[in-house]
Amino acid sequence: MAEAFAAIPCAQLPALLAAMPKAELHMHIEGSLEPEMIFALAQRNSVTLPYPSVEALRAAYAFTDLQSFLDIYYAGASVLLTEQDFYDMAWAYLQRAAADHVVRAELFFDPQTHTARGVPMQTVILGLSRACRDAQAQLGVSAALILCFLRHLSEDEALQTLQDALPWRDHFIGVGLDSSEVGHPPEKFQRVFARARDMGLHVVAHAGEEAPPEYIRQALDLLKVQRIDHGVQAVRDKGLMQRLARERMPLTVCPLSNQKLQVFPDLRDHPLKALLDAGLCATVNSDDPAYFGGYVNDNLRAMFAASNMDARHAWQLAANSIDASFAPPADKAAWRAQLDECFTEAAAPGAA
Ligand SMILES: [Zn+2]
Repeated sequence: MAEAFAAIPCAQLPALLAAMPKAELHMHIEGSLEPEMIFALAQRNSVTLPYPSVEALRAAYAFTDLQSFLDIYYAGASVLLTEQDFYDMAWAYLQRAAADHVVRAELFFDPQTHTARGVPMQTVILGLSRACRDAQAQLGVSAALILCFLRHLSEDEALQTLQDALPWRDHFIGVGLDSSEVGHPPEKFQRVFARARDMGLHVVAHAGEEAPPEYIRQALDLLKVQRIDHGVQAVRDKGLMQRLARERMPLTVCPLSNQKLQVFPDLRDHPLKALLDAGLCATVNSDDPAYFGGYVNDNLRAMFAASNMDARHAWQLAANSIDASFAPPADKAAWRAQLDECFTEAAAPGAA
């Protein structure tokens, strides 16, 4: 299918990237908190922030690695206290997603970041879930939640978190694994992932963002994940690349995150095109957009500006994102038809 779009001129790419229907599969909802909203919620909830102004907070977003980001990320999340706070945060993101022509959003959330501060699980889940419901009804965006375990904490704490979330089992579709990667390999979480799989939940995990390809192998073999979040370190392991391509294992790649956290400081060195050309099911996502300088369309725009990818890659990325989502098959088929229509129109003689 993609070959048919080779003739679409590069000048049309920015508009096409923006307009094409796409799924966003790697987005931490707490990472969508813009500094302005952090300050507004801090005021609403009488929380004192360690930064005097919006500008001072934004200026602190100069990260050297994953941990330097996480320290500020957890400080930002401290303003979230009520169900309405979680709703407002998710609703702000979902409006931006709709504007970016995201048709499906699977949102990560970190309950342990909130329950550790005394916020009840129910407050977190019900606030986020209500925003997802409203997104479908008011924005036409299909949205779902994935509960993530913080990997710098113990597996027992992850098991307890899953247990505590069970009364709201219908409000999330899967589990994931995030936070500080190096030193916290997937093998640490085998029991809780087995438990989640037994419950019929989808399973994904961050692997191979900063840590070596071995973490990706562990996520596949020990956690039996259905998607790898990031996974960019796979380029260091030829055998693993071949396996990921053969198994069509989706990778949720986040270019601006990789750039800001110094994984690939220059996007011209980013392996996205190499992953696609090797037949991997790579997708583009925003990770923590408020902190890394852009939402999903910003990521696509920056990545295409820094590489010689063409319309075939654009179509493939959108097709991959829809295929790799956990949406019902009928929805996926409808979005794929919309995608093909979007590109067929752009490829028609006289289109500009
Ligand atoms: Zn992430």
